[in-house]
Amino acid sequence: MTGMIDLHTHSLLSDGEYLPSELARRACVKGYQVIGISDHVDPSNIEQVAAGILAVRAKMAFYTNIVIVPGVELTHVPKGLIKEMIGYARRLGIGYVVVHGETIAEPVEEGTNREAIEGGADILAHPGLITEELASLAKERGVLLEISARKGHSLTNGHLARVAGLTGAKLVYNTDAHESSDLTNAEDAKRIVVGAGLFPGDFVKMQQNALELVNRVIKGSK
Ligand SMILES: [Zn+2]
Ligand SMILES: [Zn+2]
Repeated sequence: MTGMIDLHTHSLLSDGEYLPSELARRACVKGYQVIGISDHVDPSNIEQVAAGILAVRAKMAFYTNIVIVPGVELTHVPKGLIKEMIGYARRLGIGYVVVHGETIAEPVEEGTNREAIEGGADILAHPGLITEELASLAKERGVLLEISARKGHSLTNGHLARVAGLTGAKLVYNTDAHESSDLTNAEDAKRIVVGAGLFPGDFVKMQQNALELVNRVIKGSK
């Protein structure tokens, strides 16, 4: 695997700028090998978003030089519903579930990080000032914690890098792209990771963690 893997992006299925096809094409041109499209969902739209991204996946053979992985991002879903919705997304055939974590840039309900981890999310996005205890639990449960390229969400990347170093929690690098200028090539990505106090080798590890998740999704869908 040489190209970028990015498992947190948004299309027109929620608040991104492009249809999944254009987003995938632009990512491909940027040097991506795999793009996870994980649009915002809550109980109001999860069926439509899942149907949309799964329709793209069904035509995957026509998308050359890039793999599109169908995900969703549970966003501001109230505590008490998160675990249930993770299960529901999987039953709808979604490959992996991201939960919109407790970023300091938005008033995400306290306790969201914990329910995402306990509820079996694949990725906890921008987990804000996550505690060591929860990072340890994420490690135990195999939940990837996200280093974010996104404005606002990236403010706590340094904190997450430190807590991951203390606990051994696994990290993943994602852009949370909503438009094509948000997509990063591997060089930009490495700079963002190093800017969080990590090393270029950590970026390689994060891409490996992402690849393991992608391989699980691909295997599971056969
Ligand atoms: Zn968004
Ligand atoms: Zn997002």
